[in-house]
Amino acid sequence: MQIEIATLFPEMCEAVLSESIIGRARAAGHISVRCWNIREYTLDKHRRVDDVPYGGGRGMVMQADPIYRCYDAVQQDIGAKPHVIYMSPKGRVLDQQRALELSVMPHIFVLCGHYEGVDQRILDEIVDEEISIGDYVLTGGELPALVLVDTVARMVPGVLPENLCFEDESHFGGLLEYPQYTRPAVWHDREVPPVLLTGHHKNIAEWRQAQSLEETKTKRPDLYASYLDKK
Ligand code: SAM
Repeated sequence: MQIEIATLFPEMCEAVLSESIIGRARAAGHISVRCWNIREYTLDKHRRVDDVPYGGGRGMVMQADPIYRCYDAVQQDIGAKPHVIYMSPKGRVLDQQRALELSVMPHIFVLCGHYEGVDQRILDEIVDEEISIGDYVLTGGELPALVLVDTVARMVPGVLPENLCFEDESHFGGLLEYPQYTRPAVWHDREVPPVLLTGHHKNIAEWRQAQSLEETKTKRPDLYASYLDKK
């Protein structure tokens, strides 16, 4: 899978994407993520990529043309039309199911806005969908794009050791994960639930399923209700 991030702050994205699991997956070739600097595609001699909003108002708006030229360069480079996502607080809120669907797409182009956002015409021209990471506003689309890329990338084959690593986790099956424990068996007088020390796989699986249901019911009654609906 190939992900292209169009941004005014490529170093900010690279700093995160070259670390840890995603950094190793990129180095091993399980996933390709490239950052494109939109500023390199402006024709303005001062390298401007934004201007004041028509109709007045505070802040600046990113211009359509540098973004389009960046998108066009990517399209020519990969020789195909990528699925284009604009990170936006107006978009559909990201969830595990959408991330899973995106993880099987061959090419994704992620556009990061900044300032007041981008000229509507570039959205009308190239964008397939707008994705939000939650009902709040950040200063730019870089952190949302990184959240999206991390969530999607960990479900690409080879990025994690096996599918169970992401399937047996919160949200994948509609429930929250059971509580986890590690050594020591007693810490600050708090004991690990005895069943986890028995080595009895069937009992452990049953305990975990019961805990998973309980966690979801208590912490996310909305998820619990929709899990029961779908059963
Ligand atoms: N004026 C816009 C509005 O009111 O909808 C907000 C612009 S925001 C300050 C700048 C950029 O950050 C946006 O263009 C978008 O790319 C990104 N952004 C901000 N909040 C986001 C969120 N919750 N999810 C995804 N992207 C977000």
